[in-house]
Amino acid sequence: MPYVHDTLTRLKRSSPAQAEFYQAAEEVLECLRPLFERFPHYHDHSIIERIVEPERQILFRISWIDDAGRVQVNKGYRIQFNSALGPYKGGLRFHPSVTSGTIKFLGFEQIFKNALTSLPIGGGKGGSDFDPKGKSDNEIMRFCQAFMTELHRHIGPTCDVPAGDIGVGGREIGYLFGQYKRLTGRYEGVLTGKGLNWGGSIGRKEATGYGAVYFAQNMLNSRGDDLKGKTCLVSGAGNVAIYTIEKLYELGALPVTCSDSRGTLHDPKGIDLSLLKDLKEVQRTSLEEYLHHHPDARYTGARDYPQDGHAVWHIAADAAFPCATQNELTATDAKVLLAQGVHCISEGANMPSTKAAVDLFLEAKVAYGPGKAANAGGVATSQLEMAQNSSMQQWSLEKVDEKLKLIMANIHQQCADTAEEFGDANNLVLGANIAGFRKVADAMIEQGV
Ligand code: GLU
Repeated sequence: MPYVHDTLTRLKRSSPAQAEFYQAAEEVLECLRPLFERFPHYHDHSIIERIVEPERQILFRISWIDDAGRVQVNKGYRIQFNSALGPYKGGLRFHPSVTSGTIKFLGFEQIFKNALTSLPIGGGKGGSDFDPKGKSDNEIMRFCQAFMTELHRHIGPTCDVPAGDIGVGGREIGYLFGQYKRLTGRYEGVLTGKGLNWGGSIGRKEATGYGAVYFAQNMLNSRGDDLKGKTCLVSGAGNVAIYTIEKLYELGALPVTCSDSRGTLHDPKGIDLSLLKDLKEVQRTSLEEYLHHHPDARYTGARDYPQDGHAVWHIAADAAFPCATQNELTATDAKVLLAQGVHCISEGANMPSTKAAVDLFLEAKVAYGPGKAANAGGVATSQLEMAQNSSMQQWSLEKVDEKLKLIMANIHQQCADTAEEFGDANNLVLGANIAGFRKVADAMIEQGV
C-alpha cells in the first residue's frame, strides 16, 4: 500500500514534535491496509490524506491573575479534527505536559472513538499547559474564565461541544460554563459533564470507568469467562480510575491498586473506595494519605518504579485497567503482566499502552480492548447529555446506564465482527480502527470534497 507508507513518511517528516500523534496515526493507518486492499475507492477519494489533517486548529493565549496578583500566561488549544459524523466532540485537558502534539493525538483518536459509539458526534479535543496542581480554587476559576473568554467564540451546541479530560472535572466545567453564559447570554448544552442540577446527565461522571469495565466483561464473556473473582490492577486516581474500581466491585471483582503522579497504592484486601473518593474528590490530596487509614497497604513512590516500567503493572493479578495517561504501560510492563497470567486488559485512558506493549498483547492473544473502544463510554454518555439538553429532559440513572451498557456491547460487537471480517478474529485493535474509520470515511465521501 504505497499511499499508507507515503502518508506516514510525510507525517513523520512534518511533525517531528508530534511523536504521540504519529504513534496514533501509524496504528490506525497500518490497520487500514487490508481495508484498502479490498476497497481501493478510499484511495481515489484521498481519504487518508484528508483524515490526518485537522479541519481547524485554534491556538490562543490565556492570561490570568494568580493569588499573588501576578499575571500568568498559558497556551490554549482547540482542535476541530473531523466533523463528518456530527459536531466536534471531545474533552479539554489541563496538564503541564500538554502541547499541540498531545491535543492532535487525542483529537485524532477521538474521531474513531466517537464513530464507534454510532452516535452523531465528530472528533475534537482541546486543553492547556496550565498545571492545576497546587492552585487555589479562585485561581482555577480565574484560569477557566480566561480560557473560555477566548474559546467561547469557537464553540456551540451544534458546532463544537467540549467536556472534561485530565485536570478538567465537574468544578472546571462549572466555571467554564458560567463564563460562556456570561459572555453569550445563552444557557445551552455547549459543554458536557455539567452539574446534575444545571443540565448535566446522571451517570456521566461514572460513564468512562463503568464503560471500560463493561467492555472488559464483553470481551471475557465472548471467551466464556467473566470478571467475577478476578484480581484487577487499576492505574490512575481520577474520575476514570475511581469509577472503574466502583464497577469492578459491583461485578464481583477485586481491584487492588490505583496510582497518582507520586506513586502506586497497593491494597491486597481491595481498594477502600469511599476513602479513595474522599481523598481525591473531596480533599484533592495525595494517595499516600491512604496509609494513615490502612497501614498494611503499600505505597511505592514514582521514583522507585522499575526502569522503563511502572510499579502498578508489577503486581500479580488477572486483569489490568490502565486509567491514567498515554504510554503509561510499556513493553517491560506488558511482559511482566503476561508472565503473571493477566489475560484481560481494558483501557480506560487514551493510548495508555506503547506500540510495543500492544504488539505483545496481540501476539499473546489475550483479551485486549484498545482505549478508543474501551473508554468510549464517557463520550457516548456526553452525547446522551446533549440529547437530554436539546429535548430539555433529564433521564434516570437506570435509563442512562442501560443505554451505556448497550453502547459498550455494540462497540465490542462491531470491533469483534470487523476483526473477523478482516481475518484476525481476536484483534480488536484492527476491528476498532477499521470499523471507526469506515463510518467516517463513508460520510466524508458522501458529503463531497
Ligand atoms: N475526555 C473524554 C474522552 O477522552 C470524554 C470526551 C467527551 O465527553 O466529550 O473521550
